[in-house]
Amino acid sequence: MRRRELLGAALLLPVQGWAQTCGVITPRQTEGPFFKTSSPRRTSLLEGGEKSRFLVTGTVLSAQCKPVPNALLDFWHSDEAGEYDNRGFRYRGHQHADGEGRFRLETIVPAEYPGRTRHIHVKVQAPGGRVLTTQLYFPADPGNRRDALYRPELEMRAAKQGQGTFDFILS
Ligand code: FE
Repeated sequence: MRRRELLGAALLLPVQGWAQTCGVITPRQTEGPFFKTSSPRRTSLLEGGEKSRFLVTGTVLSAQCKPVPNALLDFWHSDEAGEYDNRGFRYRGHQHADGEGRFRLETIVPAEYPGRTRHIHVKVQAPGGRVLTTQLYFPADPGNRRDALYRPELEMRAAKQGQGTFDFILS
């Protein structure tokens, strides 16, 4: 490409949004001992009175960098004391991405628990596709580097205070 064409291509990238971040296939991680099936369908896990709200947004993409409409996302994480609700469905919920693969989860900042930095467990599945089980980590959390399971590829990007973004890339 000539210099002018290269410049043109670079200017197009921000318009396409998802094209900028598409790259590494999202790594799989253990689901751990606390997954439960049949979580409620909801995009907010807030119940009122929480001290530490957090908003996760992002897109589900195919390996070809195409948005995956209607992808299933099932989230679960610990509460503000580092405990999982294994009787009910507190801080558990599933949702479907919209027609452009986008999702939005309103929740809290979960607490650390022994051996683990803050994280959100998630299963992501394209319609008819294989389930990706993984975990998301909080932006610039000091606990990250003390957790052997932490991977920088799974750290949310800080959008602003109290918000993080993450794009899943399915294999
Ligand atoms: Fe966990």
